[in-house]
Amino acid sequence: MKKPNNVRIPLIRFFGIALSIILSLFLLVTWLTFSRLVNFETVLKNFSEQALPTIVLSGELYNEASQLLQFTDLLANANSDAAKRLAEQELNTYIRKIKSLSSKKLDDSFLDKQLEIINLELLEFSDLIWQRADINKKLAAKRQNMYTLFTHAFDLIQQSPRKPSYSDSEESWISQLSRLMLITDQAINAKRMQEVRGLFARVKQQVMSIQITDTKHANTIEQQNIIRTIKHTIFASDGLEHLVISHLKLTGRVKGRENFMRHLIEDFSRLLEITTNETKTNIFKQVALSVEDTENQINTIGGIILMAIILMFIILFFIQNRILKRLQNVNLMVQNKIKGQEGRNVITGNDEITDLADAFNKFADTIEIQKEKLELMSLTDGLTKIANRRALDIRLQHDIELSVRQKFSVAVLLIDIDFFKLYNDNYGHSAGDECLKSIAQIISNALQRESDFVARYGGEEFVCVLPNTDLPGALERVQHIFESIQSQNLAHEYSSIDKRVTISMGVAISTPQQVLMPEAILKQADVALYMAKHAGKNTYKVYSSNM
Ligand code: GH3
Ligand code: MG
Ligand code: MG
Repeated sequence: MKKPNNVRIPLIRFFGIALSIILSLFLLVTWLTFSRLVNFETVLKNFSEQALPTIVLSGELYNEASQLLQFTDLLANANSDAAKRLAEQELNTYIRKIKSLSSKKLDDSFLDKQLEIINLELLEFSDLIWQRADINKKLAAKRQNMYTLFTHAFDLIQQSPRKPSYSDSEESWISQLSRLMLITDQAINAKRMQEVRGLFARVKQQVMSIQITDTKHANTIEQQNIIRTIKHTIFASDGLEHLVISHLKLTGRVKGRENFMRHLIEDFSRLLEITTNETKTNIFKQVALSVEDTENQINTIGGIILMAIILMFIILFFIQNRILKRLQNVNLMVQNKIKGQEGRNVITGNDEITDLADAFNKFADTIEIQKEKLELMSLTDGLTKIANRRALDIRLQHDIELSVRQKFSVAVLLIDIDFFKLYNDNYGHSAGDECLKSIAQIISNALQRESDFVARYGGEEFVCVLPNTDLPGALERVQHIFESIQSQNLAHEYSSIDKRVTISMGVAISTPQQVLMPEAILKQADVALYMAKHAGKNTYKVYSSNM
């Protein structure tokens, strides 16, 4: 049954491989999904814990930096000490805020350094503002001093008698003094250094010119003193000229430093803006990458699931065709064997199911052999339940031996059903069996004596052994059997001699005068049966030596 060149694929290995593949696919899908989730979680975490706070913080820092600019303006233009202090305080507060914000989150050493520079610059700027304020105060005091001196000088002229000694070309002392005051005032209020220096040179010339006039016209000592004092107030080392120039220089430095500061703060803001933008761009890139990765992985997972589904269908198809259908065939084969029909083995392939079918066939064959052996050992015919051939042999031997000792005759009737093949062919094998059972029963019933015996000789043949029976007695039984069968009226439409089942019979007798051994008597009965058949069936013949 097993074809030797048929490659063996054990089912257990097939299922092992299939299940391993499905399990591996499942594990792969699980791993892919898990890793994607972890990746996504990292991106979200970065986004919520780093990116968003950085963006928000950068925004805050940017605002604070703008405020810094405003308060720098305020400090530069503050008129009073109180306003300056207030602006200074605000500036320090913002610097502190920015420092704490940046050190807390940004973790950007370059920005930190920038902030440190801004802080130092602010300190110096503030120092300059205070220096300028100080000079401003001194300048105001000096100016006041100056004007008081001029007022005093004009008062002196008013009190003294007018001197007529001035020629028309000469300027009077009073007008010279007025000119001096005018030029000094212009010098104090000039905004450009060159102009200031030029004007103060003119002031010096004017003072000298007044002093010459003093000597020429012998002005009072008091007049001369006042001019000296005015000269000293303007040109001494801490005089008005020095203060005005210092103030102008400081104002220039304040302006420069203010511009520098402004640029520093603007640079800082721009840096913040760039950092924020970089962070945003990075995060968007990360998110976009993660989304792309996720899309790719969804496709991969979809592909794997599709593969798994296709594989499952293949396995189901395999189970249906290679297992279920073949198991059905095995079942059919087993059922046929149970019914007694020879089930042909239609199980193909080379695996456990083939092994099972082979094992079952071997098992059934063994049972068949054992059944035959049992039947051989048994004395009863399995179908008709009357004695079998083996029982006949024993009985015939016994009866012949007894007849020899007790000197009686033994009659043997060999009965054969007519046209039984046609019966079987037309009514079917089971109907044939039923017919055999009926005939056995009829013959059995037709025998009277306790010692009479009937056995199934084989196929559709029966043998009756009638001990202690002579020929007339035997013929009486023969007649009775024919009548009984006739009266049962078992239909046989296909018989060519009748419409019912008929039999033919051969009769042989062993007498004390001529004892026949079992084999011989059966042989004679068979010859007689042959003659009966030859005579047209549905009849009997008694053996005679000239047959
Ligand atoms: P004839 O009239 O010459 O005796 O012809 P026949 O057809 O009766 O005899 P033949 O020997 O040609 O056929 C005997 C048939 O008996 C053949 C066989 O199928 C049938 N037969 C033998 N044993 C059994 C059995 O146990 N059951 C059934 N149903 N049929 C059997
Ligand atoms: Mg026969
Ligand atoms: Mg027959």
